[in-house]
Formats: sequence, C-alpha cells, structure tokens
Amino acid sequence: MPALSERIRRIPPSATIAMTMRAREMRGAGAEVISLSIGQPDFPTPPHAIEAAHAAALRGETKYPPVDGLPELKRAIQRKFQRENDLDYALDEITVSNGGKQIIYNAFMATLDPGDEVIVAAPYWGAYELIAQLAGGVTVVVDCPESTGFRLRAADLAAAITPRTKWLVINFPNNPTGACADREDIAALAEILLRHPQVWIMSDDIYEHLLYDGFQHATIAAVEPRLKDRVLTVNGVSKTYAMTGWRVGYAGGPRILIKAMVNMQGQATSGVAGVCQAAAAAALDGPQDFVVDRAAIYRARRNLVLDGLRDAPGMTCHRPEGAFYLYPNIAGCLGRISAGGRRIDTDQDFALALLEEQHVAVVQGGAFGMSPYVRISYAVDEAVLVEACRRIVQFCNGLQ
Ligand code: PLP
Repeated sequence: MPALSERIRRIPPSATIAMTMRAREMRGAGAEVISLSIGQPDFPTPPHAIEAAHAAALRGETKYPPVDGLPELKRAIQRKFQRENDLDYALDEITVSNGGKQIIYNAFMATLDPGDEVIVAAPYWGAYELIAQLAGGVTVVVDCPESTGFRLRAADLAAAITPRTKWLVINFPNNPTGACADREDIAALAEILLRHPQVWIMSDDIYEHLLYDGFQHATIAAVEPRLKDRVLTVNGVSKTYAMTGWRVGYAGGPRILIKAMVNMQGQATSGVAGVCQAAAAAALDGPQDFVVDRAAIYRARRNLVLDGLRDAPGMTCHRPEGAFYLYPNIAGCLGRISAGGRRIDTDQDFALALLEEQHVAVVQGGAFGMSPYVRISYAVDEAVLVEACRRIVQFCNGLQ
C-alpha cells in the first residue's frame, strides 16, 4: 500500500474525539451515556445570527468570499476588539478563519521552521501541540501546577525561553482547567517577554466571557502595548455565542503575520462561508446581555458539580474562575481496582473504566499534558450534571 507521510504519522488521533466516539458507539448499542467530554455550549445559536445568515444567503452571499474575511465582519471584529479589549486593530491587521483552530494552524504554518520551539503552558488544549508538530515545531511544556491555581508563573516562563523559542501560547480562561490570569499575572509575563524579541505571543481568548465571581479577563496586547506588534490575539464565536458549528474564528495581529496567515489559508480552505460570516457579524454586533446571563448559568453549574464531587473519594477539585471545565485530581484513585474489576493506574484507565462501568465520558488529563487528572465539561443541563455526579461518586466509592 502507498505510504502516508511522516508528518501525519507523528500525530495521534485526538483523545477528546476518541472518547466522544466511544460514547456514541455505546449509545448506539442502547447505553444511557452522559457525555462530559466535549467542549461545546449546549445553548442554541442566537436567533438574530441565524436570521442574518438566512438574509445573507437570500442576498446572494453564496460566492467565494475574500480569504481574509468579508469587510462587514472585519469591521464588527474591529469594534469588538475596541469595545471589549481596548485594542485598536486596522482592518488589515484582522483575519477570519474556519474556527479559532484554523487561526492557530495558519499562524504556526506561516512562522515555524523545523526545530523552532513553541512554549505551551500545561495543562493545555492539545491542538496547540499537535498543530505545532505538524508545522515542524517542537513543543516546550511549562507546567502550571495545581498548587498555583494552574496559573503560569513568570519565573517558569523565563526558564523555558531559549534562542529557538518562536512562540509562547497563553490561554486564560483555560481549557482544560478553567483557570484565569489577572492583569498582574499577565504583566509579569509581559515583563519577561519584553526581553525576548524573537518570540511571537499567541493569546487565545476564546473563553474570555465565561468568567465567574467578578473575575476580570486581561489580554496581553492591551496590558503591555509594547508587545502588541508581536501578539496574535485569537478569538472566535464558538464559545461566547454557542456557534461551534458555524466555524468562524478570528484574530488581530501585526500586518506582516496576518498577511502570511492569509496566504497560508488561501492554499487550504480559502475564505469562510459568507453566510457563516454574516451570522458571526450579527452575533458580534448584536445584543450581548444573554452572554452575561449564560455565564451566570455556567457558574451555577460549576458550583453544582463542585458540590456533587465533594463526596467522591480519591478525587479533589480545584475551583476554577472561568470556562466550562473542571479538572479534578484523581491521584487518590490510582493503584486501585474498580467495581467492574479494572485496574486504575493512570487517568486514562480511570476515564475508560468510568465510561464502561458508569457510562460517563470524561477526558483523561494525559491529553492535556498533565496527569493524573480528568477534564469534565459542564456545558450540559443541570439534571444531567446531577446524575453524572451521582455516577462518578458511585464509581469512586466502588474503588478497592
Ligand atoms: N481555543 C481553545 C482553548 C479551545 O478550547 C477551542 C475549542 O475547543 C478553540 C480555541 C477553537 O475553537 P473553534 O475552532 O471552534 O473556534
């Protein structure tokens, strides 16, 4: 058989997707599986976004769109950056992609040469590592330990930077921990970065509006304007507006980088579907109050799961400030045998046994670069969360 490329053979299949697929299979076979494994809001897309897409289709916005995004959407993004982040980007400093994921893909493909280093703060969203590797880069992992609230410490960042460092990726509120960084944390990182002009900085702000208990988001290009010409500020409509399937992500950044990213995208997918861009513009320019209301719902769910898991022996859980994830530590469950006779030596063993025996899907911490943890997504309704917690507690109670 003809061979696959060396490049693709280096990339393992996504652990999140593998877990979701196994859950789907079990459901197909009749099991009542609760999936807490996917990072997707359970709310519907706002009706005004759907109407804008419909109107755009009827208007004939069904042709090839510009690769970097329709001017109407780029203007909406420009206003969003000004209004919410105090950042001024010219229109040619903004680009639109098929999801935040393609923004990251474009950025790494357009900048990384073989052996270039990308610093990722663990736990991290696995896509950063895998896309960096696809682009020929090498990831350098800096741990953000639970003892510091999963925040990145400036001293740890300083120790990881080398002359080959090309990128630092920061993502607060964070997937998978829900941890946030405040202005002071970001300023401390910025101070280090000012000393290393060879480093691009990716600030993935996609969860910026999912914040609880009065926590304020701070984005590095605004906190330290002297870094702005090296920062790519990444965002998208997936999480804020519950629009994961529309595939619209965007970024603001220096002209030279944005132009290279647009070039990259031109050889991959070209522009994002015009109807989806119209929906995204309507979401960004439309009412924002429901975003705040939804954050309050997520906060209540976070508290519900934190309370529900308190009775799970062997599991302890950090209280996160944002996103819709919990990242419980399962160290106390290791070295034990489940009620179904499975030996739990790793967080992967834990996640698999929990799925097989209690029909609850979570993702093992190994997929996010820090073990032994599991990631729980609580973007599902309260009744389901209550039942999921009951099952997890029962599973942990059954460990011998
Ligand atoms: N960044 C983070 C941290 C994410 O968790 C995700 C999605 O899960 C994305 C970016 C990209 O989302 P999308 O491609 O839907 O915009």
